[in-house]
Amino acid sequence: MNNQEIAIIGAGIGGLTTAIALHKKGFTNITIYERRTTATTMGAGLVLWANAVKILERLDLLDSIEEIGGKLEQMQRYTSENEFLGAINVKTINTVIGATSFSVSRADLQEVLLEKAVQLKIAIVYKQAVKKMISDTKKTTIIFETDTRITPDIVIGADGRMNSIARKYVVGDNTPIYQNFVNWIGIVELQKPTFLENNVLDFWGVGQRFGLVPINAHKAYWAGGMALPLNAPEKKGDYKKDLDSMFGSWSPKIKEIIALTPSENIKYIEVFDHNPTNVWHKDRVCLLGDAAHATLPTSGQGACQAIEDAWHFATCLATEESVETAFKSFKALRFNKTTSITMAGRNLATSLFNTDAIYCQQRNAQAKQTDYKNASQGIAQLWGSGL
Ligand SMILES: Cc1cc2nc3c(=O)[nH]c(=O)nc-3n(C[C@H](O)[C@H](O)[C@H](O)COP(=O)(O)OP(=O)(O)OC[C@H]3O[C@@H](n4cnc5c(N)ncnc54)[C@H](O)[C@@H]3O)c2cc1C
Repeated sequence: MNNQEIAIIGAGIGGLTTAIALHKKGFTNITIYERRTTATTMGAGLVLWANAVKILERLDLLDSIEEIGGKLEQMQRYTSENEFLGAINVKTINTVIGATSFSVSRADLQEVLLEKAVQLKIAIVYKQAVKKMISDTKKTTIIFETDTRITPDIVIGADGRMNSIARKYVVGDNTPIYQNFVNWIGIVELQKPTFLENNVLDFWGVGQRFGLVPINAHKAYWAGGMALPLNAPEKKGDYKKDLDSMFGSWSPKIKEIIALTPSENIKYIEVFDHNPTNVWHKDRVCLLGDAAHATLPTSGQGACQAIEDAWHFATCLATEESVETAFKSFKALRFNKTTSITMAGRNLATSLFNTDAIYCQQRNAQAKQTDYKNASQGIAQLWGSGL
Protein backbone atom coordinates (compact mmCIF):
# COMPACT_ATOMS: atom_id res chain seq x y z
CA MET A 1 0.00 0.00 0.00
CA ASN A 2 2.99 2.29 0.57
CA ASN A 3 3.08 3.87 -2.88
CA GLN A 4 -0.63 4.66 -3.01
CA GLU A 5 -1.51 8.26 -3.79
CA ILE A 6 -2.74 9.91 -0.59
CA ALA A 7 -4.46 13.32 -0.59
CA ILE A 8 -4.89 15.13 2.72
CA ILE A 9 -7.40 17.98 2.80
CA GLY A 10 -6.30 20.62 5.29
CA ALA A 11 -2.86 21.64 6.58
CA GLY A 12 -4.03 22.17 10.16
CA ILE A 13 -2.71 20.28 13.17
CA GLY A 14 -4.47 17.06 12.11
CA GLY A 15 -3.49 17.14 8.45
CA LEU A 16 0.17 17.99 9.03
CA THR A 17 0.63 15.45 11.83
CA THR A 18 -1.04 12.73 9.75
CA ALA A 19 1.30 13.43 6.84
CA ILE A 20 4.30 13.14 9.17
CA ALA A 21 2.98 9.92 10.75
CA LEU A 22 2.25 8.37 7.34
CA HIS A 23 5.77 9.22 6.20
CA LYS A 24 7.15 7.59 9.34
CA LYS A 25 5.21 4.44 8.44
CA GLY A 26 6.74 4.36 4.97
CA PHE A 27 4.13 6.15 2.83
CA THR A 28 5.79 8.59 0.46
CA ASN A 29 3.17 9.65 -2.10
CA ILE A 30 1.40 12.23 0.06
CA THR A 31 0.05 15.68 -0.90
CA ILE A 32 -1.69 18.11 1.43
CA TYR A 33 -4.19 20.52 -0.12
CA GLU A 34 -4.85 23.69 1.90
CA ARG A 35 -7.30 26.48 1.09
CA ARG A 36 -5.30 29.21 2.83
CA THR A 37 -2.60 31.11 1.02
CA THR A 38 -0.02 30.17 3.65
CA ALA A 39 0.05 27.94 6.68
CA THR A 40 -1.51 30.39 9.09
CA THR A 41 -3.47 29.24 12.11
CA MET A 42 -6.39 30.57 14.08
CA GLY A 43 -6.19 30.75 17.82
CA ALA A 44 -3.72 31.72 20.46
CA GLY A 45 -2.29 28.73 22.25
CA LEU A 46 -3.07 25.25 23.48
CA VAL A 47 -1.83 22.61 25.87
CA LEU A 48 -0.21 19.57 24.34
CA TRP A 49 -1.17 17.16 27.08
CA ALA A 50 1.07 14.18 27.82
CA ASN A 51 -1.03 11.89 25.61
CA ALA A 52 -0.34 14.05 22.55
CA VAL A 53 3.31 14.52 23.52
CA LYS A 54 3.76 10.75 23.66
CA ILE A 55 2.67 10.59 20.01
CA LEU A 56 4.82 13.58 19.01
CA GLU A 57 7.80 11.80 20.59
CA ARG A 58 7.14 8.79 18.32
CA LEU A 59 7.24 11.23 15.40
CA ASP A 60 10.68 12.54 16.51
CA LEU A 61 9.24 15.92 17.44
CA LEU A 62 9.87 15.96 21.18
CA ASP A 63 13.03 18.09 21.01
CA SER A 64 11.24 20.75 18.98
CA ILE A 65 8.26 20.75 21.35
CA GLU A 66 10.61 21.14 24.33
CA GLU A 67 12.10 24.20 22.64
CA ILE A 68 8.78 25.98 22.13
CA GLY A 69 6.78 24.71 25.10
CA GLY A 70 6.32 25.48 28.78
CA LYS A 71 6.12 22.71 31.35
CA LEU A 72 2.97 23.08 33.40
CA GLU A 73 2.63 22.05 37.04
CA GLN A 74 -0.94 22.71 38.14
CA MET A 75 -4.33 23.80 36.86
CA GLN A 76 -5.57 26.00 39.67
CA ARG A 77 -9.26 26.83 39.98
CA TYR A 78 -10.64 29.98 41.57
CA THR A 79 -14.02 31.65 41.85
CA SER A 80 -14.47 35.06 40.25
CA GLU A 81 -13.94 36.46 43.78
CA ASN A 82 -10.49 34.88 43.82
CA GLU A 83 -11.36 32.10 46.26
CA PHE A 84 -9.17 29.03 45.71
CA LEU A 85 -11.18 25.91 44.76
CA GLY A 86 -8.38 23.38 44.30
CA ALA A 87 -5.89 22.27 41.66
CA ILE A 88 -5.50 19.48 39.12
CA ASN A 89 -1.94 18.21 39.38
CA VAL A 90 -0.40 18.16 35.92
CA LYS A 91 2.55 16.15 37.23
CA THR A 92 0.14 13.34 38.20
CA ILE A 93 -1.28 13.37 34.68
CA ASN A 94 2.26 13.26 33.27
CA THR A 95 3.30 10.39 35.55
CA VAL A 96 0.26 8.25 34.78
CA ILE A 97 0.60 8.79 31.01
CA GLY A 98 4.39 8.70 30.96
CA ALA A 99 5.21 11.96 29.18
CA THR A 100 5.37 15.71 29.88
CA SER A 101 2.58 18.18 29.08
CA PHE A 102 3.56 21.45 27.37
CA SER A 103 1.74 24.72 26.76
CA VAL A 104 2.55 26.15 23.33
CA SER A 105 1.53 28.99 21.07
CA ARG A 106 -0.41 27.75 18.06
CA ALA A 107 1.88 29.61 15.68
CA ASP A 108 4.95 27.86 17.15
CA LEU A 109 3.30 24.43 16.97
CA GLN A 110 2.25 25.02 13.38
CA GLU A 111 5.83 26.04 12.53
CA VAL A 112 7.29 22.90 14.14
CA LEU A 113 4.90 20.66 12.18
CA LEU A 114 5.49 22.54 8.94
CA GLU A 115 9.26 22.45 9.33
CA LYS A 116 9.11 18.68 9.80
CA ALA A 117 6.79 18.24 6.81
CA VAL A 118 9.14 20.30 4.63
CA GLN A 119 12.17 18.34 5.90
CA LEU A 120 10.38 15.11 4.92
CA LYS A 121 9.62 16.62 1.49
CA ILE A 122 5.86 16.28 1.94
CA ALA A 123 4.08 18.28 -0.76
CA ILE A 124 1.78 21.07 0.46
CA VAL A 125 -0.34 22.89 -2.12
CA TYR A 126 -1.74 26.21 -0.87
CA LYS A 127 -4.67 28.18 -2.32
CA GLN A 128 -6.26 24.87 -3.24
CA ALA A 129 -9.70 24.82 -1.64
CA VAL A 130 -11.81 21.72 -2.12
CA LYS A 131 -15.22 22.61 -3.54
CA LYS A 132 -16.85 19.21 -3.81
CA MET A 133 -16.26 15.48 -3.71
CA ILE A 134 -18.03 12.97 -5.89
CA SER A 135 -18.20 9.20 -5.84
CA ASP A 136 -16.37 7.62 -8.75
CA THR A 137 -17.07 3.85 -8.61
CA LYS A 138 -15.09 2.84 -5.52
CA LYS A 139 -12.87 5.90 -5.55
CA THR A 140 -13.59 9.55 -4.83
CA THR A 141 -12.91 12.51 -7.08
CA ILE A 142 -12.00 15.80 -5.46
CA ILE A 143 -13.02 18.94 -7.30
CA PHE A 144 -11.18 22.12 -6.28
CA GLU A 145 -12.44 25.69 -6.50
CA THR A 146 -10.03 26.06 -9.43
CA ASP A 147 -12.06 23.33 -11.17
CA THR A 148 -9.08 20.99 -11.30
CA ARG A 149 -9.89 17.40 -10.32
CA ILE A 150 -7.95 14.56 -8.77
CA THR A 151 -8.89 10.96 -8.02
CA PRO A 152 -6.33 9.76 -5.45
CA ASP A 153 -6.26 6.25 -3.94
CA ILE A 154 -6.92 7.54 -0.43
CA VAL A 155 -8.41 10.83 0.80
CA ILE A 156 -8.01 12.08 4.37
CA GLY A 157 -10.57 14.67 5.39
CA ALA A 158 -8.76 16.90 7.90
CA ASP A 159 -10.64 20.05 6.96
CA GLY A 160 -11.81 21.11 10.40
CA ARG A 161 -15.14 21.70 12.08
CA MET A 162 -16.91 24.67 10.52
CA ASN A 163 -17.50 23.66 6.90
CA SER A 164 -15.87 20.31 6.24
CA ILE A 165 -16.48 19.24 2.65
CA ALA A 166 -15.15 15.79 3.55
CA ARG A 167 -17.64 15.45 6.43
CA LYS A 168 -20.45 16.48 4.09
CA TYR A 169 -19.37 13.73 1.67
CA VAL A 170 -18.96 11.04 4.31
CA VAL A 171 -21.69 11.82 6.85
CA GLY A 172 -24.12 13.70 4.61
CA ASP A 173 -24.30 16.65 7.00
CA ASN A 174 -21.58 18.97 8.24
CA THR A 175 -23.55 21.54 10.21
CA PRO A 176 -21.69 22.42 13.41
CA ILE A 177 -23.70 23.02 16.60
CA TYR A 178 -23.42 26.31 18.46
CA GLN A 179 -22.96 25.59 22.16
CA ASN A 180 -24.24 28.93 23.46
CA PHE A 181 -20.99 30.50 24.53
CA VAL A 182 -18.28 32.64 23.03
CA ASN A 183 -14.56 32.93 23.71
CA TRP A 184 -12.29 35.94 23.48
CA ILE A 185 -8.81 34.52 23.03
CA GLY A 186 -5.51 36.35 23.24
CA ILE A 187 -1.77 35.87 23.34
CA VAL A 188 0.76 38.21 24.89
CA GLU A 189 4.55 38.39 24.71
CA LEU A 190 6.44 40.77 26.99
CA GLN A 191 10.03 41.96 27.43
CA LYS A 192 9.79 41.79 31.19
CA PRO A 193 9.55 38.33 32.81
CA THR A 194 5.93 38.32 34.00
CA PHE A 195 4.62 34.75 34.17
CA LEU A 196 6.82 33.29 36.84
CA GLU A 197 4.70 30.32 37.90
CA ASN A 198 3.94 27.44 35.55
CA ASN A 199 0.32 27.14 36.63
CA VAL A 200 -2.85 27.44 34.59
CA LEU A 201 -5.20 29.85 36.37
CA ASP A 202 -8.87 29.06 35.77
CA PHE A 203 -11.48 31.47 37.18
CA TRP A 204 -15.16 30.50 37.35
CA GLY A 205 -17.96 33.08 37.50
CA VAL A 206 -21.68 32.96 36.74
CA GLY A 207 -22.05 32.14 33.04
CA GLN A 208 -18.47 33.34 32.60
CA ARG A 209 -14.95 31.94 32.81
CA PHE A 210 -11.42 33.26 32.41
CA GLY A 211 -8.35 31.04 31.92
CA LEU A 212 -4.71 32.08 31.75
CA VAL A 213 -1.98 29.71 30.53
CA PRO A 214 1.71 30.64 30.81
CA ILE A 215 4.09 29.35 28.11
CA ASN A 216 7.26 30.84 29.57
CA ALA A 217 8.17 33.80 31.78
CA HIS A 218 7.56 36.19 28.87
CA LYS A 219 4.65 34.61 27.03
CA ALA A 220 1.12 33.47 27.92
CA TYR A 221 -2.21 32.92 26.25
CA TRP A 222 -5.66 33.33 27.71
CA ALA A 223 -9.37 32.87 27.02
CA GLY A 224 -12.35 34.68 28.45
CA GLY A 225 -15.65 32.87 27.92
CA MET A 226 -19.26 33.86 28.35
CA ALA A 227 -22.74 32.43 27.71
CA LEU A 228 -24.10 34.45 24.78
CA PRO A 229 -26.43 33.92 21.82
CA LEU A 230 -25.04 33.82 18.29
CA ASN A 231 -24.28 37.22 16.79
CA ALA A 232 -24.53 39.02 20.15
CA PRO A 233 -23.57 42.74 20.05
CA GLU A 234 -20.31 41.86 21.85
CA LYS A 235 -19.13 40.39 18.54
CA LYS A 236 -18.51 43.89 17.21
CA GLY A 237 -17.45 45.49 20.48
CA ASP A 238 -14.20 47.02 21.67
CA TYR A 239 -12.77 43.75 22.97
CA LYS A 240 -10.33 45.17 25.50
CA LYS A 241 -12.97 47.45 26.96
CA ASP A 242 -15.57 44.66 27.02
CA LEU A 243 -13.14 42.22 28.64
CA ASP A 244 -12.05 44.72 31.25
CA SER A 245 -15.63 45.45 32.24
CA MET A 246 -16.50 41.74 32.39
CA PHE A 247 -13.39 40.28 34.02
CA GLY A 248 -11.28 43.22 35.22
CA SER A 249 -12.61 43.04 38.76
CA TRP A 250 -12.05 39.28 39.13
CA SER A 251 -8.31 39.35 39.80
CA PRO A 252 -5.49 41.89 39.35
CA LYS A 253 -3.73 39.31 37.16
CA ILE A 254 -6.66 39.22 34.72
CA LYS A 255 -6.87 43.02 34.61
CA GLU A 256 -3.13 43.20 33.94
CA ILE A 257 -3.13 40.58 31.19
CA ILE A 258 -6.03 42.21 29.35
CA ALA A 259 -4.28 45.59 29.54
CA LEU A 260 -0.98 44.12 28.29
CA THR A 261 -2.42 42.22 25.31
CA PRO A 262 -2.25 44.15 22.04
CA SER A 263 -5.75 44.59 20.55
CA GLU A 264 -4.71 42.86 17.32
CA ASN A 265 -3.89 39.71 19.33
CA ILE A 266 -7.47 39.35 20.59
CA LYS A 267 -10.08 37.33 18.69
CA TYR A 268 -13.77 36.72 19.29
CA ILE A 269 -14.97 33.19 18.58
CA GLU A 270 -18.47 31.73 18.69
CA VAL A 271 -17.89 28.18 19.83
CA PHE A 272 -19.33 25.18 17.94
CA ASP A 273 -18.83 21.45 18.12
CA HIS A 274 -20.46 18.42 16.42
CA ASN A 275 -22.65 15.64 17.72
CA PRO A 276 -20.55 12.48 17.73
CA THR A 277 -21.17 10.33 14.65
CA ASN A 278 -19.94 6.80 14.14
CA VAL A 279 -19.74 7.31 10.38
CA TRP A 280 -16.12 8.29 9.73
CA HIS A 281 -15.48 6.93 6.25
CA LYS A 282 -17.06 6.36 2.86
CA ASP A 283 -15.48 4.89 -0.27
CA ARG A 284 -11.83 6.01 -0.13
CA VAL A 285 -12.37 8.99 2.20
CA CYS A 286 -11.67 8.87 5.94
CA LEU A 287 -12.24 11.76 8.35
CA LEU A 288 -9.98 12.67 11.25
CA GLY A 289 -9.40 15.51 13.71
CA ASP A 290 -12.21 18.07 14.00
CA ALA A 291 -13.85 16.86 10.78
CA ALA A 292 -14.55 13.54 12.54
CA HIS A 293 -15.07 14.64 16.16
CA ALA A 294 -14.98 18.37 16.88
CA THR A 295 -14.95 18.91 20.63
CA LEU A 296 -15.33 22.09 22.69
CA PRO A 297 -12.28 23.94 24.03
CA THR A 298 -13.52 23.00 27.53
CA SER A 299 -12.35 19.44 26.81
CA GLY A 300 -8.78 20.75 26.43
CA GLN A 301 -8.21 17.90 23.98
CA GLY A 302 -9.24 18.93 20.43
CA ALA A 303 -5.76 19.27 19.01
CA CYS A 304 -4.42 16.43 21.16
CA GLN A 305 -7.04 14.06 19.73
CA ALA A 306 -6.21 15.15 16.18
CA ILE A 307 -2.58 14.24 16.95
CA GLU A 308 -3.61 10.84 18.35
CA ASP A 309 -5.73 10.25 15.24
CA ALA A 310 -2.71 10.89 13.05
CA TRP A 311 -0.67 8.13 14.68
CA HIS A 312 -3.45 5.56 14.78
CA PHE A 313 -4.58 6.27 11.24
CA ALA A 314 -1.06 5.79 9.89
CA THR A 315 -0.59 2.62 11.94
CA CYS A 316 -3.88 1.12 10.71
CA LEU A 317 -3.06 1.96 7.09
CA ALA A 318 0.39 0.42 7.44
CA THR A 319 -0.73 -2.79 9.12
CA GLU A 320 -4.17 -3.64 7.74
CA GLU A 321 -4.57 -5.61 4.54
CA SER A 322 -6.83 -3.19 2.72
CA VAL A 323 -7.85 0.45 2.83
CA GLU A 324 -11.37 -0.56 3.89
CA THR A 325 -10.20 -2.59 6.87
CA ALA A 326 -7.72 0.14 7.83
CA PHE A 327 -10.53 2.73 7.92
CA LYS A 328 -12.75 0.38 9.95
CA SER A 329 -10.03 -0.43 12.48
CA PHE A 330 -9.13 3.24 12.82
CA LYS A 331 -12.69 4.22 13.65
CA ALA A 332 -13.13 1.27 16.00
CA LEU A 333 -9.95 2.27 17.85
CA ARG A 334 -10.80 5.94 18.17
CA PHE A 335 -14.58 6.32 18.41
CA ASN A 336 -15.18 5.66 22.12
CA LYS A 337 -12.32 7.79 23.39
CA THR A 338 -13.11 10.79 21.20
CA THR A 339 -16.82 10.53 22.04
CA SER A 340 -16.10 10.46 25.80
CA ILE A 341 -13.90 13.53 25.41
CA THR A 342 -16.54 15.39 23.36
CA MET A 343 -19.20 14.65 25.98
CA ALA A 344 -16.88 15.62 28.87
CA GLY A 345 -16.19 18.94 27.10
CA ARG A 346 -19.93 19.58 26.74
CA ASN A 347 -20.64 18.70 30.38
CA LEU A 348 -17.98 21.08 31.65
CA ALA A 349 -19.19 23.84 29.30
CA THR A 350 -22.80 23.38 30.46
CA SER A 351 -21.64 23.80 34.04
CA LEU A 352 -19.18 26.67 33.46
CA PHE A 353 -21.54 28.72 31.33
CA ASN A 354 -24.61 28.16 33.51
CA THR A 355 -26.14 31.55 34.23
CA ASP A 356 -27.97 30.55 37.44
CA ALA A 357 -26.13 32.07 40.44
CA ILE A 358 -27.38 29.42 42.91
CA TYR A 359 -26.27 26.60 40.62
CA CYS A 360 -22.83 28.22 40.30
CA GLN A 361 -22.50 28.60 44.07
CA GLN A 362 -23.25 24.89 44.51
CA ARG A 363 -20.89 23.97 41.66
CA ASN A 364 -18.09 25.94 43.29
CA ALA A 365 -18.78 24.40 46.71
CA GLN A 366 -18.59 20.97 45.10
CA ALA A 367 -15.36 21.89 43.35
CA LYS A 368 -13.91 22.84 46.73
CA GLN A 369 -14.81 19.40 48.12
CA THR A 370 -13.29 17.56 45.14
CA ASP A 371 -10.56 15.01 45.80
CA TYR A 372 -8.10 16.49 43.31
CA LYS A 373 -5.71 13.56 43.53
CA ASN A 374 -8.46 11.25 42.30
CA ALA A 375 -9.65 13.81 39.77
CA SER A 376 -6.14 14.18 38.32
CA GLN A 377 -5.82 10.40 38.05
CA GLY A 378 -9.27 10.09 36.44
CA ILE A 379 -8.37 12.66 33.79
CA ALA A 380 -5.06 10.91 33.14
CA GLN A 381 -6.76 7.55 32.72
CA LEU A 382 -9.15 8.86 30.08
CA TRP A 383 -6.56 10.91 28.21
CA GLY A 384 -3.91 8.21 28.45
CA SER A 385 -6.13 5.36 27.24
CA GLY A 386 -5.57 3.60 23.91
CA LEU A 387 -2.24 5.19 23.13
C1 LIG B 1 -11.67 28.73 20.63
C2 LIG B 1 -11.01 27.41 20.53
C3 LIG B 1 -10.03 27.09 21.46
C4 LIG B 1 -9.41 25.84 21.40
N1 LIG B 1 -8.48 25.54 22.34
C5 LIG B 1 -7.91 24.30 22.32
C6 LIG B 1 -6.96 23.92 23.32
O1 LIG B 1 -6.65 24.67 24.24
N2 LIG B 1 -6.41 22.67 23.26
C7 LIG B 1 -6.72 21.80 22.25
O2 LIG B 1 -6.16 20.68 22.24
N3 LIG B 1 -7.60 22.13 21.29
C8 LIG B 1 -8.21 23.34 21.30
N4 LIG B 1 -9.12 23.67 20.35
C9 LIG B 1 -9.46 22.68 19.33
C10 LIG B 1 -8.40 22.62 18.23
O3 LIG B 1 -8.21 23.89 17.68
C11 LIG B 1 -8.85 21.70 17.13
O4 LIG B 1 -9.35 20.52 17.68
C12 LIG B 1 -7.68 21.37 16.20
O5 LIG B 1 -7.21 22.52 15.59
C13 LIG B 1 -8.14 20.35 15.16
O6 LIG B 1 -7.23 20.25 14.13
P1 LIG B 1 -7.72 19.89 12.66
O7 LIG B 1 -6.47 19.77 11.87
O8 LIG B 1 -8.67 18.77 12.69
O9 LIG B 1 -8.56 21.15 12.17
P2 LIG B 1 -8.03 22.66 11.89
O10 LIG B 1 -6.88 22.99 12.77
O11 LIG B 1 -9.24 23.51 11.92
O12 LIG B 1 -7.49 22.56 10.41
C14 LIG B 1 -8.32 22.42 9.29
C15 LIG B 1 -7.55 22.92 8.06
O13 LIG B 1 -8.30 22.60 6.90
C16 LIG B 1 -8.31 23.71 6.03
N5 LIG B 1 -9.51 23.61 5.19
C17 LIG B 1 -10.80 23.74 5.61
N6 LIG B 1 -11.64 23.59 4.57
C18 LIG B 1 -10.87 23.35 3.48
C19 LIG B 1 -11.16 23.12 2.11
N7 LIG B 1 -12.42 23.12 1.63
N8 LIG B 1 -10.14 22.90 1.25
C20 LIG B 1 -8.84 22.90 1.68
N9 LIG B 1 -8.51 23.14 2.98
C21 LIG B 1 -9.51 23.35 3.87
C22 LIG B 1 -8.32 24.91 6.98
O14 LIG B 1 -7.91 26.09 6.33
C23 LIG B 1 -7.38 24.44 8.06
O15 LIG B 1 -6.04 24.78 7.77
C24 LIG B 1 -9.77 24.90 20.39
C25 LIG B 1 -10.74 25.23 19.46
C26 LIG B 1 -11.37 26.47 19.52
C27 LIG B 1 -12.46 26.79 18.52
